[in-house]
Amino acid sequence: MAAQLALFDDAGHAPAARAGRPAAWRHPRANRECCLENAVVAYEFRRARRRTIGLVVNAQGLSVRAPAWVPEAEVLRFLLSKSAWVLDKLRQQASRPAPAMVWRDGAVVDFLGQPLTLSLDPSHRFEGAGAAQVGQRLCVALPQDCGAERLREAVHAWLQAQAQAWFVRRLDHFAPQVGVRWSRLRLSRATTRWGSAKADGSIALHWRLIQLAPDLIDYVVVHELCHLREMNHGPAFWRLVEQVLPDQAQRRQALRRVTLLTLT
Ligand SMILES: [Zn+2]
Repeated sequence: MAAQLALFDDAGHAPAARAGRPAAWRHPRANRECCLENAVVAYEFRRARRRTIGLVVNAQGLSVRAPAWVPEAEVLRFLLSKSAWVLDKLRQQASRPAPAMVWRDGAVVDFLGQPLTLSLDPSHRFEGAGAAQVGQRLCVALPQDCGAERLREAVHAWLQAQAQAWFVRRLDHFAPQVGVRWSRLRLSRATTRWGSAKADGSIALHWRLIQLAPDLIDYVVVHELCHLREMNHGPAFWRLVEQVLPDQAQRRQALRRVTLLTLT
């Protein structure tokens, strides 16, 4: 028997089908949703060291930055007061063709929810995966003219190596809290599931999870570990998840907003 965590929700429905009202605009790192003049806008919200509330609309969508001392209700009021401007900018962006990921020096990939800029540098000899993170850069030991395919393969190999190590650490961290033992980890590349668990203790986690924020990875890790005790999504299962992660509902909702399509 295998219990699986669906990409969108546990019934396997896309969020749009559940909510009834799909977001008209969704930032790939969206962690908030609001309604602007009848359009649902899912946006990225972050606290930042700044004096004023900042709104940025780019190809990814709407990002909102606010100083730590401004209450969120006030941020939302400000956002609503700028509805017309925001929607105008979003519509302008939507009328442009979406830029496809171009695999080259300077391209950006997400790692643990943060952007990493690719930096090609053949003079380096990185152990193992052929790449190393240096601050906000991912240095890849390939020449500038290596070609998109080789670069993509090198970056994916590095991400998968990080995924393996990170997932093992988090499984080991949470297994005692759930009161289970896991036996084997497999990195999956399923198209509709973030993870799955089998009664023999083996767990599969999608390698792309490593591109999401640690909170979301932890949610999937805990979800699958809990399936080693409850092979269903009944009330006892959710109680168990909530014991370990009291804010599991928020994390679950944030994960629903991520689609594999937004990951490059
Ligand atoms: Zn599940």
